[in-house]
Amino acid sequence: MLKTHNCGELRIEHAGQRVTLAGWVQRHRSHGGVVFINLRDRSGIVQVTFDQETAPETFSVGDLARAEWVLQVEGQVRRRPEGTENPDMSTGQVEVVAERAKVLNQAKTPPFYIDREAGEAEILRLKYRYLDLRRDRMQQNLILRHKVVKFIRDFLAERDFVEIETPILTKSTPEGARDYLVPSRNHPGQFFALPQSPQQLKQLLMVAGFERYFQIARCFRDEDLRGDRQPEFTQLDLEVSFAEREDILNLTEEMFTRIVEEVSDKKLLFKPFPRLTYHEAVERFGKDNPDLRFGMELVDIGDLVVDSDFAIFRQAVIEGGRVKGIRAEGLANYSRKQLDELASFVQRHGAKGLAWLALQGDQVRSSFAKYLSEDTVAAIVKRMAGQPGDLLLFVADRSPIVAEALGRLRVELASRLGLRDPDVLAMAWVIDFPLFGWNEEEKRWDPSHHLFTAPMAEDVPLLYSDPAAARGQQYDLVCNDYEIGGGSIRIHQREIQEKVFELIGLDVEDARQQFGHMLEAFEYGTPPHGGIAPGIDRLLMLLAGEPNIREVIAFPKTQTASDPMVGAPSPVTEAQLRELHICLLEDS
Ligand code: ASP
Repeated sequence: MLKTHNCGELRIEHAGQRVTLAGWVQRHRSHGGVVFINLRDRSGIVQVTFDQETAPETFSVGDLARAEWVLQVEGQVRRRPEGTENPDMSTGQVEVVAERAKVLNQAKTPPFYIDREAGEAEILRLKYRYLDLRRDRMQQNLILRHKVVKFIRDFLAERDFVEIETPILTKSTPEGARDYLVPSRNHPGQFFALPQSPQQLKQLLMVAGFERYFQIARCFRDEDLRGDRQPEFTQLDLEVSFAEREDILNLTEEMFTRIVEEVSDKKLLFKPFPRLTYHEAVERFGKDNPDLRFGMELVDIGDLVVDSDFAIFRQAVIEGGRVKGIRAEGLANYSRKQLDELASFVQRHGAKGLAWLALQGDQVRSSFAKYLSEDTVAAIVKRMAGQPGDLLLFVADRSPIVAEALGRLRVELASRLGLRDPDVLAMAWVIDFPLFGWNEEEKRWDPSHHLFTAPMAEDVPLLYSDPAAARGQQYDLVCNDYEIGGGSIRIHQREIQEKVFELIGLDVEDARQQFGHMLEAFEYGTPPHGGIAPGIDRLLMLLAGEPNIREVIAFPKTQTASDPMVGAPSPVTEAQLRELHICLLEDS
């Protein structure tokens, strides 16, 4: 190696030792006859001193060097003179006095500082990702990612899981998103799809008798991107034969508890993880991936206002909708303008408006109280557990709109009130999802999870009489307003699988075309099985306390699904297209 030690490891015990270091110039300061360079490698930074008097030739190398040049330095470690120690650096007690130095490479001036972030545009960071990744924050994120993945591999291997790779060139899986397609040169007009997840293959590995499978699997979904989505992302995909729901939940819970406690510096709010039914999650928090770090639950006041003179509330209940509210502690002094802003917020999430009631001391300020009797207002305040200083906010509408609008408002207000401590992870299970949702446009049932999820054993007859009421054996792991994993016990009998295909509008011929291999496999002795697929990127985002998953992926795509560093996607030559039997439309 070109070095004997790492920069960041040098301590007082090394004083007096000769070392050779190699790394990048983080910072360069010149004080007349002495140059100080902070030399950086992956392990950290150490100060190197170049003295014109004692080593003139070496001094001139140090004097010439600039930010991000690559140097090799040989010298002696010494205790820093008293009063010049730097308690902010882990190597701050010592410095290396350069005796020999060599420029291993020069560097252009980088487009941004490496040692600090100055709010540069993300596109610039992604274009020069190899420089962005030199930054300590990004190095720590990727090292944490490595540790988490290694922990997972060890944890599962100890429990008899086998890691098996499944193909990237495959046939599309029905996970509900758009596929990335790959044209086939050998089969004109035909396409592979990149896997949205290895769902079918992991089930076939259960048919194959592996019993316990996992994979750190890359998945591809051509969706519109948000902060927690990328066109390609990584899942811990796992599947177990002869397992019941409880087995998958316990295994995952133990693994995640230990990851948080042993690999990260975050705190788990709940041990064991609480379990909410889907119905309960939506009723109490307005969403099936609630943030449980704080309360502010949705409270129904429909029964209190159904006979009132406030038509908006009354009508909503009469028409089968809901009137629900949340209590924002201490926000009674919100101005008209701030309240209007909250109203626009819920309108963006589908609600028609926001009714409010502010408890300012003994006074009640409200957009609607004048239409109600004093008793009714008092009953509402009591139901909401309102205290002086609180602001009560209400939405009246169809049930899903109330849930969506208040569920989002709850999270928004909690952010403003500082109730979302980023160091705390509130992991929980959501269970008992409905198996289907009705797709009004296409007049058919859509699977809530995917079409291999088994109904609850006692709900199987409902597939034939009342599919809306059938619950699936699905479970989601949620944390801090994100779903970080979902899975289910699968269907393993052909006739139930065929019934589900029928309900989602696949006729026998379609089903045979798309899933013939699954249906056929199910006839060769398929064990009962189930699994889960936690998202590695989202987990890392939470463990690292980052605002989006791009910060925990080495080379992510932009929000518009492109890579400005390598310049992808990019056009290809006529010859390549011809070989693939592809002809572009004029406007592309
Ligand atoms: N394949 C599913 C998904 O990607 C997870 C599972 O059911 O295991 O959401």
